[in-house]
Amino acid sequence: MARREHLLKIGVSGIRGVVGEFLTPQLACAFAQAFGTYVGQGRVVVGRDTRASGPMLQHSVACGLLAAGCQVIDVGVLPTPTIQIYVASSGARGGIAITASHNPSEYNALKLFGSSGLIFNSYERGELLDLFHQSDFRQASNEEIGSVTCDFDAPKRRHFERVLRHVDVERIRARRFLVGLDAVNGAGAVTTVPFLRDWLGCRVEAINVDPTRPFPRVAEPRPDTLGDLSELVRRTGADVGFAQDPDGDRLAVADETGRVIDNDDVLALVVDAALENLPGDVVVNLTTSAVVNDIARAHGRKVYRTPVGEANVVETMQVVNAAIGGEGSNGGVIFPAVHMCRDSYTGMAFLLDRMAQTGETVSELTRRLPRYYRKLGKVTYEHGMLGALMQALEDRFPDVETDRSDGLKLIWPDAWIHVRASNTEPILRLAVEASDEARMESMYKGLEELFAEVKGA
Ligand code: MG
Repeated sequence: MARREHLLKIGVSGIRGVVGEFLTPQLACAFAQAFGTYVGQGRVVVGRDTRASGPMLQHSVACGLLAAGCQVIDVGVLPTPTIQIYVASSGARGGIAITASHNPSEYNALKLFGSSGLIFNSYERGELLDLFHQSDFRQASNEEIGSVTCDFDAPKRRHFERVLRHVDVERIRARRFLVGLDAVNGAGAVTTVPFLRDWLGCRVEAINVDPTRPFPRVAEPRPDTLGDLSELVRRTGADVGFAQDPDGDRLAVADETGRVIDNDDVLALVVDAALENLPGDVVVNLTTSAVVNDIARAHGRKVYRTPVGEANVVETMQVVNAAIGGEGSNGGVIFPAVHMCRDSYTGMAFLLDRMAQTGETVSELTRRLPRYYRKLGKVTYEHGMLGALMQALEDRFPDVETDRSDGLKLIWPDAWIHVRASNTEPILRLAVEASDEARMESMYKGLEELFAEVKGA
């Protein structure tokens, strides 16, 4: 049952699954018709990443939208943030990005945006889901059936113009940085080289920029999946290396030695740059490093913590009118002055601007950050054990500060533990951070031993 649910998930985050047996073209069409019914007659923007099922599902989605009486604007293969910004700036009723983000290539999904180009919030998602389950769809009459038009150039321009308003473009261009890029043959394969080369004057050494080919590596850009980028940076002597996920919202960064730096540190560097120029606080998820607190404190700002997930971070950012936010380990920077969405292009531009401003290398910039040691991992369990496992954790540390908004986070002055259950599988996700490496290792080991004990009891 859990396995099947994992293969197709229709829920608050939209619709996601393994294409073919589970996520069928019929289902995508019906879901798009429900979406068209919900947002109403008018223009709806549809774009996608590069996975093989993209064109098929895009036709299904267009079909459902047309049946509901919408006009379809096809923007082709584009990063998700580019699609969101175009939705917001084009007077469209909403938008759909066909992408399973960092999930493997056999998956696909529909990401849904309202007229302001924001991810549907929990209320909108609930309403849409009701409409979908009731199959209460609008059927356009013959006279009402709209058409599909294409706009392949304006979205990129709008996105890049918005990002570059917040950095000193001439200062970056003057440095003629040599940049290594791994775009995983995803949506960034068509947009990132022009962004770096034509807009920012960089020299670019790129791998995996063929949108017609499959993903050549694990799609999620993490330190352990980016060996080819490290090698590229070392071989070419690049100043910096960038890696994206298939829909171009996540970013990972390699320094000039080819070492892929921790995504929490990337977020910290970008937060530091943003707070220098803008008022407002910072919002990050519970698993993001305390390094962000140190940076915010240095600027006299506050850090708000949310459950894991972009939608959760975005909702809180709106409430507190944040300057910047993100999810460290997920490689996400959310900068509302560009758009309230995760955006790798903002991250790249801010980092290059910082390098140009300070004259420092990426490793020098990173070394100046407060040092924390982190370890992420997971523990599997039999269904029915979750309560006992979490209770054991509570009992082990009775007197520590806690946060229960997403699993359990235990917070000490110089360390924290965050344990949360997966939504889809019987897995506990563990995260431990401490300012001392030996302490972090022993805390992590203690956690594993505690759970092993409970499972063996
Ligand atoms: Mg993504």
